[in-house]
Amino acid sequence: MMMVDGLISLAFFDRIYDISTRPKAVRPQNMLRRVAYFYHQPKGPKPLTPSRPLPAHQLKTLIFPPHSPNSSTSESNGLLNHALQEMCMRGLNMKFKDYDALLNECVNQKSLRGGQRVQAHMMKTQYLPPVYLRTRLIVLYLKCEVLNDARMMFDEMPEKNLVSWTAMISGYTKSGFYSEALSLFVHMLRSGIYPNEFTFATVLTSCVGASGFEYGRQIHSLIVKSPFEFHMYVGSSLLDLYAKAGLIHEARTVFESLPERDVVSCTAIISGYAQLGLDKEALELFCTLQREGMASNYVTYTSILTALSGLAAFEYGRQVHGHVLRSELSSYTVLHNSLIDMYSKCGNLTYARRIFDKMPERTVISWNAMLAGYSKHGMGKSVVDLYNTMREENKISPDGTTLLTVLSGCSHGGMENSGLELFDEMAGKDGIDMGIEHYGCVVDLLGRAGQFERALQFIREMPFEPNAAIWGSLLGACRVHKNIEVGKIAGNRLLAMEPENGGNYVILCHLYASEGRWDEVTKVRELMMEKAVMKEPGKSWIELGRILHTFYASDRSHPRKEEVSSKVRELSDRIKAAGYNPDLSSVLYDVDEEQKERMLLGHSEKLALAFGMINVSEGKPIRIMKNLRICVDCHNFAKLVSQVYGREVSIRDKSRFHHIVNGICSCEDYW
Ligand SMILES: [Zn+2]
Ligand SMILES: [Zn+2]
Repeated sequence: MMMVDGLISLAFFDRIYDISTRPKAVRPQNMLRRVAYFYHQPKGPKPLTPSRPLPAHQLKTLIFPPHSPNSSTSESNGLLNHALQEMCMRGLNMKFKDYDALLNECVNQKSLRGGQRVQAHMMKTQYLPPVYLRTRLIVLYLKCEVLNDARMMFDEMPEKNLVSWTAMISGYTKSGFYSEALSLFVHMLRSGIYPNEFTFATVLTSCVGASGFEYGRQIHSLIVKSPFEFHMYVGSSLLDLYAKAGLIHEARTVFESLPERDVVSCTAIISGYAQLGLDKEALELFCTLQREGMASNYVTYTSILTALSGLAAFEYGRQVHGHVLRSELSSYTVLHNSLIDMYSKCGNLTYARRIFDKMPERTVISWNAMLAGYSKHGMGKSVVDLYNTMREENKISPDGTTLLTVLSGCSHGGMENSGLELFDEMAGKDGIDMGIEHYGCVVDLLGRAGQFERALQFIREMPFEPNAAIWGSLLGACRVHKNIEVGKIAGNRLLAMEPENGGNYVILCHLYASEGRWDEVTKVRELMMEKAVMKEPGKSWIELGRILHTFYASDRSHPRKEEVSSKVRELSDRIKAAGYNPDLSSVLYDVDEEQKERMLLGHSEKLALAFGMINVSEGKPIRIMKNLRICVDCHNFAKLVSQVYGREVSIRDKSRFHHIVNGICSCEDYW
């Protein structure tokens, strides 16, 4: 997400500063050049010309050939040096146009040294540069990333105009000095200079974080009173502001009110949805905009692929992949990374690996995405093999995420010893910062291996306070290994830390129930009824012919609900003969047994599975997605369905994949 976030901001800058749509020959490539450019616009501030006409012989200015990207650097360097020497020789005869031409070339060549020489020459000859030339110097310093010099120049200006203010503000914004940008904006308003569309668009991108957002809102109310409310760039920046703050409805309102839509605004709104996990909305909007003929850039594709990964919408994903291949963007590494992520989250590791293998260049994100793919599918050996390849290739160093992925891969893949070895080997090496998550993985590995004493010891000695995730994984291990003593310790810590999380009570109940300690079960259940809140309703979905069918627990909304629930009953009856025994202890409510069973049969993943059994042609695997962790009963149910009906079932829950073939799950019943 962070990555996409950065990309969006970048795209914003490209767009804000790209005014190629304007009917003019000059095509400034960035803000700095654009500042100079709109200085010369007739409606902008008047261009400065020397007040007194110059004698003809002095009008000869330093002439540079038009700057072309093909001209050799050393050649233009030479020209600039020559011109700088000429400046020294001319001494007091240097005029506005000469300085202007010289500074232009310095900006083109990003020559900081050149700019400093020009400034020194001005001081020596006591030439008082007009606002325009001073602004050019600021622009040059910003381009050379010497913000302090730019600011000094700016502060020393006897008078400043809109362009100088906007240039300085954008310099800060671009370098990530957001609070400086905002405070300069406030100063600008106080000094009586009124912002234009570029100032607004720029300063809005500085409104990051919670306090920045408040500023953003205030700036929005200024914009409403200005003539720029419906300006494209301003609108896109506003939309981005709201989307990043999670206020997607506000963002959508701004989007709908834009006079026209372009790739940046479309991308911003799609990514806004995707980043909030509103994947379905992101996909719907993407499809609508595609029909309307929206162009896409690599950021658009990255955002939509994120949404498709969330939805595990394989068919759509393939379609987007096709678009990418046909576009000219197929060489972007970030897109490949997103495709790897999308395919592996859709359960197709072969496709993911094919993309990974064909990448001309890989970043650590590419490796991490592929490793995470194997890890989530419980393919511990593939994780370790790929990691070894990474080390052997020795082109990219692993980072904290790599280590985390490899450790959890070992844990999901039942390779406890390899994981523990790797942890010992990597701890302190490679400059990897170990976070609490890494320690959590080790606790998970130890718990999985049934080494509870060692796990407790490890928790006591680690440099972090254990968090709920760590106790949670230990409690999960206790359930599998039926270790009541340690389970009690972990469970009580957990209930104290997050009393509202219903899942913890359920696991603890299971643990006690498995040992027949019913009075404890009752106690925990009472506590749960009192304190737990169900945060997120469980839902499962399945993609069929590019339509996502979503089911909620005890769903009454799906158009084929009757058919689906009778199929669930049919499946249940048939697998009971093969040993299915409804796990009534996972029902949270105090109702009679029959009703408990009915509630269990209403779980969304069972509905989705039944729907898949009706509609997915025989011989094809049934792929189901679930937003929460799958419960023990549904896991059993799916395993028995796969065994009795000879179907391959794959369920992606919140934390991992369950590939069930012939009644055996890839998670080895540990999740
Ligand atoms: Zn369930
Ligand atoms: Zn499983």
